[in-house]
Amino acid sequence: MTATTICSPAVFHTPQNPDCALARASQVAQRADFHRWQVLAQAMDPELDADVQIAVIAKATGMASGYIQSNLVAMETLNALPLLHALQEQLCHLDMHRLRAIDSALSVAEASQLPALDEELLRWLTPTKAHQSLPGARAIARHIRGQLVIIDDTLPEADVPPPPPEWAYSMRINDDGTADLYARFDAQEAVAIDSMVRALAAAEGISQPQAHARLVSGDAQTRITLNLYQAKDIPNAPVFLPRAGWLSRAAGNELANQATTVREIDQMSTSVTTAYSTPEAMEAFIEGRDGTCRFPGCGVSAEFCDNDHRINHAEGGETGPTNLFKLCRHHHNLKTAGRVFYLQDPHNGDVVWLLADGTYVTDEPTGPLSAASKRWLQTVNGRKSARDRKARTRAQAQKREERDQS
Ligand SMILES: [Zn+2]
Repeated sequence: MTATTICSPAVFHTPQNPDCALARASQVAQRADFHRWQVLAQAMDPELDADVQIAVIAKATGMASGYIQSNLVAMETLNALPLLHALQEQLCHLDMHRLRAIDSALSVAEASQLPALDEELLRWLTPTKAHQSLPGARAIARHIRGQLVIIDDTLPEADVPPPPPEWAYSMRINDDGTADLYARFDAQEAVAIDSMVRALAAAEGISQPQAHARLVSGDAQTRITLNLYQAKDIPNAPVFLPRAGWLSRAAGNELANQATTVREIDQMSTSVTTAYSTPEAMEAFIEGRDGTCRFPGCGVSAEFCDNDHRINHAEGGETGPTNLFKLCRHHHNLKTAGRVFYLQDPHNGDVVWLLADGTYVTDEPTGPLSAASKRWLQTVNGRKSARDRKARTRAQAQKREERDQS
């Protein structure tokens, strides 16, 4: 990569569109904000009590102590990622909300994993095309979690899972006579429970809390189908569960072992039907390609989205992946009303949105079947193979040494 590539107006995320006055004004404010946090981070003296220093900053700036602390920690984490830091110095495209998301997602990473994560974040957050959609804080956190799950195979598997913290389950009575139940699960367990609740509620025409109560009391049962995605051309490829994301090896294997149907999904990419409704296998392909609603920045999970016929079925638009894209109800309505419009790139699944102000923005699919996910899995697999080869070479050398000594 060269500085020329990054600075060229030919490639940029939309908040850095040099021809957009709104983007330029926002950039000025964002640079000033980033500069402020750089100054504050540099002013922190590691020899002095952090709480006292934060209190001084709070008094001087009027900002809340918690906000100051989380931003300073985010700046510290950025310092531990030299490649991303250099990119941020140059583009200043990540606001503090995104930097805090990076810090929070990396809080469980080992120091030894940071260089690989840094490399990946540099690759992923460097613009590669014009008018590219900039990933939001949640998408960035999801991407890092996926990285961690997959890169994490160097760590020993935990023998005994840690006990859940006390706050992982609680109930709060509200003033209006209602009550909230809170429970924390592993993501894959939560997705399964939530899917059962939604399925029962829809089947019986009852509310989701009612369905939840009936399931917990044993008064009802329901069957659900969860689609899992796993690459067949990569050995021990990780498993992706929609909404939960990439799963740890143990969780992925456990779920994959329960699978009742396995199907080749790639061939669906060119399938077409004359019917209006989408066949089940094609639906699984489109969900797996898109990941979320395809409107830029919208994070609604693909399984809660409608299938939008880009060219209307009544006007000859076919029911097939090249004409079907996931849109949440809100963005589907915007498109149907003609307030926004998109074109698609048949080669990579990108869609280009034409907005009411005459500008456009490119959205890349983010699901496990997207071109970006496939490239990324190949890269991770390449790194893993190289590491395994090194480990084998080391073990062989050690054996030779032991044999020579005996
Ligand atoms: Zn949407």
